[in-house]
Amino acid sequence: MHQLSGSDTEALALFEHLPDAVVIVNTQWRITALNQQAASLLQRARKEVPGKLLWRTVPEALGTACQQHYQQALQTHTAIRFETWCPPWGKWFQVTASPASGSLALFFQEILWSEHDAQARWREGAVRGSGHLSQAILDSLTANIAVLNPAGTIIAVNEAWRRFAQDNCPPGSLVRTEVGANYLEVCRKATGAFAEEAPEALAGILAVLHGSLPHFTLEYPCHSPMEDRWFLMSATPLPAGEGAVVAHLDITKRKQAEAAVRASEARARRLLEANLIGVVVAGREHILEANDAFLEMVGYAREDLARRCLNWSAMTPAEYAPLDQHALQELDERGVCTPFEKEYYRKDGGRVPILIGAALLQEQPWQCACFLLDITERKERERTKDEFISMASHELKTPITSLKGFAQLIRRRLKQQGMNELVQYLERMQTQLDTLTKLVNDLLDVSKIQAGRLDYAQESVDLDALIYEVVEFLQQTTTTHTIRLRGASSVHIVGDRDRLNQVFTNLLTNAIKYSPQAKTVDVQIVPSAEMVTISVRDYGVGIAPAHQGKIFDRFYRVQASRDKTFPGLGMGLYISQQIVERHGGKLRVTSEEGQGATFSVTLPTGEPNIAEL
Ligand code: ADP
Repeated sequence: MHQLSGSDTEALALFEHLPDAVVIVNTQWRITALNQQAASLLQRARKEVPGKLLWRTVPEALGTACQQHYQQALQTHTAIRFETWCPPWGKWFQVTASPASGSLALFFQEILWSEHDAQARWREGAVRGSGHLSQAILDSLTANIAVLNPAGTIIAVNEAWRRFAQDNCPPGSLVRTEVGANYLEVCRKATGAFAEEAPEALAGILAVLHGSLPHFTLEYPCHSPMEDRWFLMSATPLPAGEGAVVAHLDITKRKQAEAAVRASEARARRLLEANLIGVVVAGREHILEANDAFLEMVGYAREDLARRCLNWSAMTPAEYAPLDQHALQELDERGVCTPFEKEYYRKDGGRVPILIGAALLQEQPWQCACFLLDITERKERERTKDEFISMASHELKTPITSLKGFAQLIRRRLKQQGMNELVQYLERMQTQLDTLTKLVNDLLDVSKIQAGRLDYAQESVDLDALIYEVVEFLQQTTTTHTIRLRGASSVHIVGDRDRLNQVFTNLLTNAIKYSPQAKTVDVQIVPSAEMVTISVRDYGVGIAPAHQGKIFDRFYRVQASRDKTFPGLGMGLYISQQIVERHGGKLRVTSEEGQGATFSVTLPTGEPNIAEL
């Protein structure tokens, strides 16, 4: 034990050649002298320290066990020796506090521990004592955690690590991972489950221990015979080069979820790459991803897509913009949109007709998936069919007109000759010729509508008079039904008188045709602000909801066994709707199967009504 005697200066002369650092303080804790070793340890010039407060010079000692020991030595006049870990130097010291006549000499001797002692000291001092890493906190974590000293020796582990080590390295196994084992050696000697990743792990931990890497992580699989497991290993340095914390976190669930996502992505990609239909992922402006089928449809290359050259709204001809807007609205409201037909401009300037459906993928950032079918061939077939219908009806029209003319002539002659029976036959023939004429005219109208060539006159039409005329005419031709007309609008609208006549004639003819068991048909005119609604109500077979949206399509007929008895080609409502819409109006149906149907035509009465072509 070091004893101080005589004056501080004399004593110091003695201590100068001791390996210990020596500091002498007075009872007020002011440093009165220090030897060269102490000055070097404090990294101060030797002469600038005396007179300074000990606690100012080494503030880290304040409030620690050291301070208590120094005080005790002074109060009891007894020398005290203890070992302590000194964070500023990252070293263990044996400290002797030796009191003598109003002063206290402090001797600091560095302890060079054996590896084994170091583990125990570190564990005691750094882990339990320091309060920085509480064992309780470590134990409460689910990750397997070990604290390594700078040499890589495991000096502390948490409960999870201990259990994992027990389960995976049973007694007698070569690899030991409990406290005292060197983890770097464990990595070096690794065989089996962790072996492939072990060299990388070793390099990472070493880099962290040496301070060349601020943090290291590694994901690795651990194939136990029972199950596949995945771990995330991390190595984090402790302050002041004191070692590192190594943690192994079980990430099997995350890996399984990732694998499931990857598998479903792969499935989706296979569907995409099947190229049966065009598939794209689009944002509000650009097409972000597309399969080859789509790129082929629009004649763009994959590089164009990568350069974000495919702006879908710029690729859409102006007349389809409202349809796109409607689809976008549907997507925002319902997440999907009803498939519809449109066209895209190809890169070469031509157009490609497509059928498109879409589903919202995400809102932030907005993205949707679109499925597109090239309908060029179908459109071409439709065009050929329309051309044929148009040509055939033109060809039919001439002989029918001539037949009608001759039939009229013969009828007149026979009447003059009083051959009444033959006159009756000829009248029936004329009725059939009228039906034939109507069919041919309808066919012609349909093909004209398709080609956008149905002409409309713009004239002032007295609506009440027109309805009255249609009702009166049809009342004369039907013996089975009474047509009841109610209401009046007293308005004139601007439109095509004959075409509007065609609409109401068709609605009333249908009302009679599809209500063979009924006796009445009601027609009602209801004016309202800037509108007039004419409804035709029958009490017949009605229309099931599933068909109500389709009966206005070209050639659509309700296919039910009972309908076999109703003749027709499914053109009347299509033509009627087109005419009403060209007058700026709407044609709607309300019906229940077996309960009759009401067709309502709503026409605007304000401004000129024929929509611009
Ligand atoms: P068509 O009567 O020549 O078949 P339309 O275009 O006029 O053609 O009508 C289309 C279909 O709508 C008809 O086939 C019929 O099934 C249904 N339909 C039309 N009007 C009525 C009605 N008043 N009652 C029941 N079904 C109707």
